[in-house]
Amino acid sequence: MPRQILHIDLDAFFVSVEQMLNPELLGKPVVVGGHVDSRGVIAAASYEAREYGLKSGMSVAKAHQLCPHAIFVPGKFSHYTSASAKFMAILAEYTPDIEPMGMDEAYLDMTGFEPIYGPVKQTASTIKWRIKSEIGITASIGISTSKVVSKVAANLCKPDGLLEVAPGNEQRLLAPLPIGKLPFVGPKTDKKLSGLGIKTVGDLAKWPVNLLQKMFGVHGQTLNLHANGIDVSAVARRQQIKSISRETTFAKDSLDLRYIKDNLCYLSERVGAALRKEGKSAKCLSLKLRYADFDTISRSLTLKQPVDTNEAIFAAGTILLEKALKVRRHLIRLIGIGVSKFIDRQRQLDIFDTALLKLEHLNTAIDKIRQRYGYSAIQTGATPLLGKTASIRDRNYLLATPCLSR
Ligand SMILES: [Mg+2]
Repeated sequence: MPRQILHIDLDAFFVSVEQMLNPELLGKPVVVGGHVDSRGVIAAASYEAREYGLKSGMSVAKAHQLCPHAIFVPGKFSHYTSASAKFMAILAEYTPDIEPMGMDEAYLDMTGFEPIYGPVKQTASTIKWRIKSEIGITASIGISTSKVVSKVAANLCKPDGLLEVAPGNEQRLLAPLPIGKLPFVGPKTDKKLSGLGIKTVGDLAKWPVNLLQKMFGVHGQTLNLHANGIDVSAVARRQQIKSISRETTFAKDSLDLRYIKDNLCYLSERVGAALRKEGKSAKCLSLKLRYADFDTISRSLTLKQPVDTNEAIFAAGTILLEKALKVRRHLIRLIGIGVSKFIDRQRQLDIFDTALLKLEHLNTAIDKIRQRYGYSAIQTGATPLLGKTASIRDRNYLLATPCLSR
């Protein structure tokens, strides 16, 4: 049975989201990112702006020169993450085989679903309609037996298009296209191929594969296959995460137990929030310590009952910390806490265990507040020293290793 692969791509994503939020921008040349007198580059251009030659990655100066009346909007990342989450949630209702490519595109393997949903083209139409009515922006969809052909098809029918390539018609679609339309053919490869007199995908398809291999290595064979409309690669589901951890190096090596525990508590809360966001509970907790002499140890603990509260993670971390310090009491340079062995978060709890239920509700409420207003917006009384020792940026504590204090 031939595969049925969809490539779904939201049209001019950032700009479409901005236009949806502010309909005054509809139908106008709009640019997201950059400011008229800044030195940056633009992140996205509306189709109206593209008619003037504007495209993402172009310098603001150039964009302004080509289209002086373009409207520059600063853009807000949270708008895009929320639209992207809605997009992915819609797709997930149709198949578990989804391979997201960034925020605004994905491959779906719909093979074998026709008995349930009807013809694949009809399902694709439904998905397009749902994206339009539930998110307020348009998408383009390519359907074929492979990822590469579906991606080309989706690009060809943009914006707001739907193009199905019947099995056997792949080469007919690809042959007349300029080689730059093939995915993975960047400007460099394009130039090299043009130098050989290869202008269209059809030209490329006829070239002996061994010559392409000589010029492009392994990539040469892929070029040959893609040009012939052949791509057997599978739609790869997003890897499930297997562990979550946070660690930090202290500004100064320390053996002050209160200070160390405050940091551990902060990291536990970070790990707990990430764990709950994934909808998981964890059975294994591990602590990492690096002493001042760089000797690094890791200790772990497997629990009978999976946990997802900050308090439980911190409590287990404290046990491991105290154990480790009994073995070696020496200045500490780095501390980290992690969780693994996940199971889906569910109510494994005794519903009469009101204390634990209260704790769960409290954790969830705190997560919500912090997601909105930042970590330091609410204090649990567990990390009093951090408030005094760590500086705050964007309402989050700035630890010595900032990438870990996200
Ligand atoms: Mg897109």
